[in-house]
Amino acid sequence: MNRPNIVVLGAGYGGMITTAKLQKMLGSNEANITLVNKHNYHYQTTWLHENAAGTLHHDRTRIKISDVINFNRVNFVQDTVVSLDPSSKKVQLENGELTYDYLVIGLGFEAATFGIEGLKEHAFTISNINSARLIREHIEYNFARYNNEKEERQDLLNIVVGGAGFTGIEFVGEIANKVPELCKEYDIPREKVRIINVEAAPTVLPGFDEELVEYAMNLLEGKGVEFKVGTMIKQVEEHKILVEKDEQQEEIPTNTVVWAAGVRGNSLVEEAGFETNRGRVPVRDDLRPNGYDDVFIVGDCALIMNPENDRPYPPTAQIAIQEAETTARNVKKVVNGEDNLETFKPDLKGTVASLGEGQAIGVVFGDKKLFGWTASVMKKIIDNRYLLKLGGVGLLLKKGKFNIFTK
Ligand code: FAD
Repeated sequence: MNRPNIVVLGAGYGGMITTAKLQKMLGSNEANITLVNKHNYHYQTTWLHENAAGTLHHDRTRIKISDVINFNRVNFVQDTVVSLDPSSKKVQLENGELTYDYLVIGLGFEAATFGIEGLKEHAFTISNINSARLIREHIEYNFARYNNEKEERQDLLNIVVGGAGFTGIEFVGEIANKVPELCKEYDIPREKVRIINVEAAPTVLPGFDEELVEYAMNLLEGKGVEFKVGTMIKQVEEHKILVEKDEQQEEIPTNTVVWAAGVRGNSLVEEAGFETNRGRVPVRDDLRPNGYDDVFIVGDCALIMNPENDRPYPPTAQIAIQEAETTARNVKKVVNGEDNLETFKPDLKGTVASLGEGQAIGVVFGDKKLFGWTASVMKKIIDNRYLLKLGGVGLLLKKGKFNIFTK
């Protein structure tokens, strides 16, 4: 009997959970499963800001795919997807081609740069292990250079973070903790270093509870972070940045701009011809895009509307994981020839943003606000729950965050 080929693209939250569930749910006589990913590891994107600041080593964040996926059951292909052709059911890889009967796309996000001049060329983004490691190395190298330069080079010590959404604020919290350590290491007075967070909206963490926002700002300002809200980044150059507020422009010398002000879906989905909105593909209730019954899309590549406010759900790991669970069950149904596919219903448990070691803010269980240490413990519980779900107790013990006073 011909077994259908299921191909899963991307081993992020969406792709990993889909594959881990499918390997349990489908017998090897029911379907072939192939997982394609650029690297032989999965990483927790939600920890990358810690790797970028250098407060957590990236080996804590990445997990060998073979620790979770049984390669005797799943054909793992380490390669880069270069294009998709849903009309001929083909996926082009850098080193080959795959044909599928059912496709799950979980290729994640890219930075949205909104056409800002010089941003693509000169700014860093916190997107994966390699980009996070580069930011950490770059900042440390600039600190090391500072006392070797003949002239005063303030650009080496100014760190500008574009965007005060979750990623921006979480990175600012970590780097504010790291800077005193770097200053000590490289003999630089702390007051010489500036951490500047630029946000176009009138407040940081737009849309978040006001009391929590105030807590976050007070805490971070206490650690020396400067906020420039209602301020647009107009241009980025190698050694400086141009910002504008109320039609007043200001130049800030900096060698380090970390752009955390917007994401879009992986451009491969748009290039494949799927209908997109900001690079994300609107999907039906069963997570399939319009016009394609053999394709499922999970995570940051998928766009789902929240009927309560008629706006898209923000792309989060939480939603990616839940979508993957529904997708795995729906793939099993289509493989078994059933047409009563499950409707995806997000079950949002809340949001917690870290503000550096031992500090966080969040809203959980509907409207319960959490501050400081309690919120940071909750963040670790959320992270540990994911590890348990993905790889059971073994993975949790290997990669979990247990010390509630340190990382
Ligand atoms: P990803 O997790 O991004 O995975 C995509 C995978 O596809 C990766 O393994 C990548 O290597 C692979 N891939 C990409 N392109 C190719 C290619 N061409 N070929 C082969 N493989 C490819 N969300 C929360 O819910 N809570 C948080 O606290 C939170 N904090 C965050 C903090 C930071 C710093 C960032 C950046 C994001 C945060 N998010 C958070 C958002 C969350 O991380 C994303 O929504 C989530 O990672 C999306 O999951 P995904 O499966 O779609 O893609």
